[in-house]
Amino acid sequence: MAIMIDNKRCPENHPCQSVRVCPVNALVQQGYKAPKVNTERCIDCNKCVNYCPMGAIHNGE
Ligand code: SF4
Repeated sequence: MAIMIDNKRCPENHPCQSVRVCPVNALVQQGYKAPKVNTERCIDCNKCVNYCPMGAIHNGE
């Protein structure tokens, strides 16, 4: 399983709040771009998946 970011769903116009819900700082955002996942840190907790109101973060696709 892996966290995937759907760049088409992310409006890329705001600080990503999912970055803050990640317990291991595995999500990183540059400017207002869609965040990227550090797969070496990610523990597959799905908090970011459940949090993103745009549905732009998915697991296991
Ligand atoms: S699944 Fe959990 S650990 Fe992985 S990026 Fe999302 S919030 Fe962070």
